[in-house]
Parts: sequence; structure tokens; C-alpha cells
Amino acid sequence: MLLFSPYLTQMAAIYQRVKTSKGWRYRALPTGRGRRAADSATPPFYLRFTLNGKQQWSDPYQSLPEAKKAVEELPDVIEARAKGLSLHELAETRNANRVPIKTAIEEYLAQKAGKSKKTIQQYRLTLNEFLESVRVRFLDEIDVAVLRQYKNFLMTEGYSGKTQDTRLNIVYFLLKKNGIAARLPRDEMPVIEEEVAIPYIDSELKKLFAAMDDEQKIRYKFFLGTGCRDKEVTFAAWNDIDFEKRTYHVRRKEDVGFTPKSHESRTVPLPASLVDLLRARRKKAPHERWIFVNEEGRPDNHFLRKLKRIALHAGLNCGQCRTTLRKGKYEGVRPVEVTCKTDPVCEHFYLHRSRRMELRSARIAEAAEKSVHISITLRDMSRELRRLPMLLCAQEAQRRAFRRNVGQHRIVPEVGHESSGSRARNAANRSRR
Ligand SMILES: [Zn+2]
Repeated sequence: MLLFSPYLTQMAAIYQRVKTSKGWRYRALPTGRGRRAADSATPPFYLRFTLNGKQQWSDPYQSLPEAKKAVEELPDVIEARAKGLSLHELAETRNANRVPIKTAIEEYLAQKAGKSKKTIQQYRLTLNEFLESVRVRFLDEIDVAVLRQYKNFLMTEGYSGKTQDTRLNIVYFLLKKNGIAARLPRDEMPVIEEEVAIPYIDSELKKLFAAMDDEQKIRYKFFLGTGCRDKEVTFAAWNDIDFEKRTYHVRRKEDVGFTPKSHESRTVPLPASLVDLLRARRKKAPHERWIFVNEEGRPDNHFLRKLKRIALHAGLNCGQCRTTLRKGKYEGVRPVEVTCKTDPVCEHFYLHRSRRMELRSARIAEAAEKSVHISITLRDMSRELRRLPMLLCAQEAQRRAFRRNVGQHRIVPEVGHESSGSRARNAANRSRR
């Protein structure tokens, strides 16, 4: 049996047979600058290649494209023949020990099944987008060049630096999980612009509250008064309120699968006026256990999404935020580019402030207290409303302070651990309807 070694072959060259005064001879097709001559050459064509140190001639090819294709495939053909395989089988065995990116994504998402539905959706959207935008199929093909290609795709799509950073980090989770070391050099990571809280004018802010019904008002006052997260308000129970001490205790509730983020049970002081509002609400409580329920009597949720809808209807969106939503139902689901001009996706609306702001919390409680007075003058109203974006953006301000303190421009840990902030933003990116 002949021992073939694909490593001994070198790039084949294309030849023609031409008649000379000495008879028929092989003549190499001109390459490089003389290419036009090659294009006008007439078949048949032959490949000359070296195999195990010996020069070989191929069978004839009847067109130049065919011959060129054969040049490209030749190393595979030789290897396949050496192994007694067809070309297709060769490709199969080569790929047998490799992990397609698609498979890795599915496995990764399955491992993350315990995460929230929103998180899974964000991961799925991002990872599939990554797969579609790069030209490789296998995990082991992912290198810096591929990541650069993905980053360029994100830039071309017009995503903000922050979105680019978030998505690259999600891809990094996948790579880390699979032991792939490729990362973009730090100086190539997207630049995250500092977010500046948009100063609202009074008339705009009035519109936000004016667009709320009474039920919505108490909900968002609860957010302001407690500084709680979306899920924490969802599972806020009457039992958690101490009307005497004017506190709200965020506690885990195993029967409904609620655990405070970072297992952080804590007690929050309530503004007196919020306590009054809650006391009044309790007298005709919509539910005996939960403070806020939906029409089916279950704990209500998606408060941020709803706030964004109120902001949209109140005409308060900036009109500039862009994101991709998945619209349609069942098989009809497709990604759609939208702006906050038409959809409730404005990133300038936040729901909660940070939990570790004891120093601020007193001031916030004070401000919130004023905002829950039942009889309220228009002047008071506009003054409080002016404070609202401060309260809503307090969490962002705190994050900025943190970044300044640690002297970082990037917020990898935040994305990596999926802080509530990034989760809220991620949710915002994907909030639909
Ligand atoms: Zn916007």
C-alpha cells in the first residue's frame, strides 16, 4: 500500500498541453500579472503536484474553474484517499471531534435554564446573532479575528458601546465555559459612554404622572419609597409591612420561588405618607397576601416595561434609543429594529435605585414622602416631579461613582454577574409590546 502523506503535497499548479516544434508539452498557465492569458486559455487543463516527493500529473479538466476547484480540493482528496475515505467521510471524521458553535450554544442555554426567562432570551438572541454574523462553524475556529468580525458587525448595526460590550461579554461566557481563550484586546473593547441623565422640564414630568392611573401611581410611589427591584415589588406581601415601625422587609418566599438578589433580605424604612397610602389600600386590599396583583389575582410584574409604556404614552421618550425587538407570534417571530420613538424602549427610564445607598436612602425617602401626599398642589407636584428622574437614575449615578472609584471604564464584573442594573437594561432592550 502506498503511504500518502498530505503534508508532503504542495500547492498544485495548472498546466495546459501545447504543441511545440518538439511535440506536445505541458506548459504552466501564467499566474499573477499574466492572468488574462490564463483566462483565454483553452482546455483541457492538468494539475501538477508533488506527492511523497514525486511529481504527479492529474487527469484532464475541461474548464479552468474546474481545474481551480481541483487545486483547492487536492490536499483533501489525497488525504481522503490515504485514509480510504470519500471526501464527505473525510469531512465527517475531521469534524467528529469538534464542537459546532451551534451545539455549544444549545448546551450553554440548557445549562442556564435556571436563569430568568429574560436572561435566557437575551443570551439566545445574542449567541445566535453571533453565530449568524461570523463565518466560522466550530468553536475551535473562534479567535481574535472572529471576535473582531463580530464587533464590527455590532458597530455596523449601530448598537451603542454598552450594548456591544454586553453582547461581547455574553459571547465570552460561552467561550469561557468551553475553555476557548480568545478575547479581544482591552483597547479594542467597545467604549462605553457615560450615560447622562436627561434633564426633564417640568411639563414633561407632569405628563408622566398624568399618564398614570391611581393604581399605577401607588405602584411607582412604592418603588420610589422603597427603592426595590422589579421582582421584589412583585412579591411584596402585606406581611412584609410593619405599619408600626414603618418598615418593609424584603424576604425570601420559597413557595413562589422568590429569593432576593444576592440572598439579600433586608429591611427598608418607609416614608410615613407611603405607609398611610398602604394602610388605606389594605382596607380594600385587592389580595389578602400580595400588595400588587394583576387581573388574575396573581403577583403583578414587568413594572419597568410598564413604566416605559407610560413614558411612551406620555410622549416622554427621547426618540433616539435603538434596539432589536422580537415581534410576531409563533413561527412569525422575527427581529425588528425599533426606536424609542415608536416603542416603549427608552433607556432613560429606570425603576429602582441601588440597595447600598443608606446615605441617600434618607433623602430619597424624604423626597418620596412628599410625593405621596394625597392632596398636593401643582407647585409641590412639579417640584417633586423634578426629583423623579434623580430618583429613577440614582442607581445609574451610583454605578458611575463606583466606576470612578475603581478607576475603570469598563464594567465587566457588572455584566458578568448580571447586576440588577444590567438586567434591567437588558430587559429594557427586549421589552416588547
Ligand atoms: Zn429613548
